[in-house]
Amino acid sequence: MTSPAAGPTKILLPESRIPRQWYNVLADLPTPPPPPLHPATREPVGPEDLAPLFPMDLIAQEVSTERYIDIPDDVIDVYRLWRPTPLIRAHRLERALRTPARIYYKYEGVSPVGSHKPNTAVPQAYYNAVQGIRRLTTETGAGQWGSALAFACAQFGLDCEIWMVRASYDQKPYRRSMMEAYGARVHASPSEVTSAGSKIRAADPASTGSLGIAISEAVEVAGGADDTRYALGSGLSHVLMHQTVIGQEALEQLAMVEETPDLIVGCTGGGSNFAGLFLPFLREKLAGRIDPVIRAVEPTACPSLTRGHYAYDFGDTAGFTPLLKMHTLGHDFVPDPIHAGGLRYHGMAPLLSHLYDEGVFDAVAKPQRECFDAGVLFARTEGIMPAPEPTHALAAAIEEARRCAETGEPKVILTALCGHGHFDMAAYDRYLSGQMDDLELSQERIDTALTRLP
Ligand SMILES: *Cc1c(COP(=O)(O)O)cnc(C)c1O
Repeated sequence: MTSPAAGPTKILLPESRIPRQWYNVLADLPTPPPPPLHPATREPVGPEDLAPLFPMDLIAQEVSTERYIDIPDDVIDVYRLWRPTPLIRAHRLERALRTPARIYYKYEGVSPVGSHKPNTAVPQAYYNAVQGIRRLTTETGAGQWGSALAFACAQFGLDCEIWMVRASYDQKPYRRSMMEAYGARVHASPSEVTSAGSKIRAADPASTGSLGIAISEAVEVAGGADDTRYALGSGLSHVLMHQTVIGQEALEQLAMVEETPDLIVGCTGGGSNFAGLFLPFLREKLAGRIDPVIRAVEPTACPSLTRGHYAYDFGDTAGFTPLLKMHTLGHDFVPDPIHAGGLRYHGMAPLLSHLYDEGVFDAVAKPQRECFDAGVLFARTEGIMPAPEPTHALAAAIEEARRCAETGEPKVILTALCGHGHFDMAAYDRYLSGQMDDLELSQERIDTALTRLP
């Protein structure tokens, strides 16, 4: 037995400390990110172009340069179901690594659906409801975003219709059950209920779908009905801003134990949980008060930051969306079927791509077995079974902590444990039975996809 660790394990805030505002980093940037462009005219898109898809309040937030945006009381009232979330010191993991580093994780798995996604699903549903919208559509891959939006729609009395990538629909039935329990209608995508889906099924009846196809179906239905809008779970600036509740709380919680981070590390799919964690710390860094290294971690199977190009590209496979300047592998790049489904997106949030280009943070790519090594070590020490996505951040945090064990540096490492893995145990089964592979991604495949940039 070891003696009890020094210092607190759980750093908790009272309900009264739920942030009252979201932080908008655009107010503090010397240069704004390049604007989205209309694919036909190549002119910046205006609010009227986006109005068929999003409510006006969210369109305004997307381009706002106000530093703080008030969180509506009705949204805070739902946040109170799980916020503030705990910040936990990983004493047991530190001991297992024999590291002098101090590792803290902000745990978003305590939300009703088990991830950070409702931090934005709830305000998105709210702003649609106050505009009189009746129904929201969206796509979902593994089902984390779909369950968050289904939950949020149930809170505000909205209908919710979700296109779930058919491969997941067939293989991961419990996320679908959860969405349906919240009252959503779930279609396997490609479906027969849209023309985009029907066309693909006609050409390939066995199609197992992709996120890009599911987006096309959800956008088609939202664009064709006055009482319906579309909701997106990552990538856009308003989504990243909603997630800043994570970092604002973490900043206050670290201050309570008189710590400042030396390294902030997060996993990136579209970039929302990572941005939500680090942007409030970036505000402090830009003001010269702290100086952490900030690091994104992506899968080697889908390395948009470390191996993609910074270029204008479509957000979806079919090419329906505006052109977004982002780090991209090409809109028709199809990543190998790794288990971290939430990290299989060809592009990166335009705001994060811009910050990466400016050198605000660095990025590394991790193969999935190293990530599951980290996930299992974390489960055995800290007890929480991480979702496959945040195991990427854990792998990089552990790598740094091991380096500290060699150099003797007592660095403070902060990461977001953005979701639990209770619906992902099939992936752990494969890992534990030795059936998980690391797939090489050839430069040729990336080059080929990049030749099709618009
Ligand atoms: C959706 C999801 C991700 C990836 O999305 P980001 O926008 O990059 O955060 C990562 N982890 C979990 C648990 C998710 O649900």
